[in-house]
Amino acid sequence: KLEDAEEMIKEELIEETETATGPAEKRDFQAETRKLLDIVAHSLYSDRKVFIREIVSNASDALEKLRYKQLTNNDQISDSDLPLEIKISVDKEKGLFIIQDTGIGMTEAELVENLGTIAHSGSKQFLNELTDDKGVSKDGIIGQFGVGFYSTFMVGNKVRVYTRSSQPGHKGYRWESDGSGSYDISEAEGVQRGTKIIIELKDDSKEFSELGKVRTIVSDMSNFVSYPVSINGDLV
Ligand code: ADP
Ligand code: MG
Repeated sequence: KLEDAEEMIKEELIEETETATGPAEKRDFQAETRKLLDIVAHSLYSDRKVFIREIVSNASDALEKLRYKQLTNNDQISDSDLPLEIKISVDKEKGLFIIQDTGIGMTEAELVENLGTIAHSGSKQFLNELTDDKGVSKDGIIGQFGVGFYSTFMVGNKVRVYTRSSQPGHKGYRWESDGSGSYDISEAEGVQRGTKIIIELKDDSKEFSELGKVRTIVSDMSNFVSYPVSINGDLV
């Protein structure tokens, strides 16, 4: 019977097993970043699903960096027995979208630098275009350049990042923000090598906690990701 078959499909959701330990240190986003976040979070950009492309490519980049490190200095990698993979988990009841990779991870300094400022190319170009104000619509620009990690705030009202560097000897950290002026960083326990991003979806973006919807979006991009990607435990 179909019911029995459905019963047998055991979904493997990613749980938030990490815990923040140290006190949360509050930091302000760099002024440019705040400007960008404000535009992204309040934009009426219709193609919100691009956030998935952005975070899957970041996970893929992180795994690629780790693989390069493995080839060059194999003895300096933490959790060296972890497979190189990307796991996505959606939870409709809780309205969550979660992605976890076993890639290079970030140290505390890298977290501040990479997620608190916009040193990277895509977003810089985005802001330059806006400042030039050539009468181009913001929506067009978001689609053209991509706003990387910050695109998570198009669909999330809160984003938490747990990460631990692949460089041995580093602690795990939790980065958390609602996409307004600031973010919090705390030390965290139970963080495996790599990065886990938990997005608490906005009411108008709950569709991204639907398994079928997310599976379709991820399948469309699987040809440019060279690591296994699973959704709720099933390989894509
Ligand atoms: P870009 O990918 O163009 O550099 P993003 O906004 O997508 O810009 O990401 C900013 C930076 O944050 C990345 O360059 C990377 O250093 C860091 N980062 C983002 N996601 C991850 C991840 N999953 N693992 C490790 N580092 C990450
Ligand atoms: Mg990126």
